[in-house]
Amino acid sequence: MKNEAPRLREMMVARQLEPRGITDIHVLEAFLEVPRDEFIPGVDLREAYGDHPLPIGEGQTISQPYMVAVMTQCLELIGGEKVLEIGTGSGYQAAILSRLAGTVYSVERIESIARRTEELLRRKDYDNILIKVGDGTLGWPEYGPYDGIIVTAGSPGIPSPLVEQLAEGGRLVIPTGSDYSQRLLVLTRRGDEIIQHDEGGCVFVPLIGEYGWKDRRR
Ligand code: SAH
Repeated sequence: MKNEAPRLREMMVARQLEPRGITDIHVLEAFLEVPRDEFIPGVDLREAYGDHPLPIGEGQTISQPYMVAVMTQCLELIGGEKVLEIGTGSGYQAAILSRLAGTVYSVERIESIARRTEELLRRKDYDNILIKVGDGTLGWPEYGPYDGIIVTAGSPGIPSPLVEQLAEGGRLVIPTGSDYSQRLLVLTRRGDEIIQHDEGGCVFVPLIGEYGWKDRRR
């Protein structure tokens, strides 16, 4: 069917996001606009909008739409913010964030993934996303502090550089736990205090780096 993607996005929002508590209208609009299928190499159109994660090469995955939405909603963006993403992957999460924030800084440790995604985002005119290759557990201090930090890989703990790069009132969203199951934690900075919420269970590929898991799989 011609032009099926917009209809698939509407279905994704109506069946996967709204009934499960994604209520932020701006978040829902971003999901209606960003063509998820364009971020997944060689994928079948319907598969791209399915209720599950998908492989993007190099043993990495693009998260389930609902998980991208929950993490985005947890940042409580109102527009204009500086947001740091750790784990660029396909660039889909970054593209969603780029519709809701001022500038998105995204760090990816696998160079081939970072370059491919950078090229894709440039081609599609996402001009408020900056990508760097490196260990995101160290953050990206040059542009900090950030109003929001989102980690899209599972971490054994909270990397201290990320907490240090959090602006006043800023939120850090991070899956934390073992390498096969994590809790989605939201940390908010209030002065010198950090307030923590648990947003439920999740499963992510491992965050590998100095303040993450050691590099033993590659
Ligand atoms: N946000 C992505 C999901 C990517 S999966 C998307 O929307 O598609 C997680 C990504 O985190 C993988 O690409 C992996 O290579 C990357 N990653 C793992 N550890 C990292 C680290 N220390 N720094 C930066 N990226 C990391």
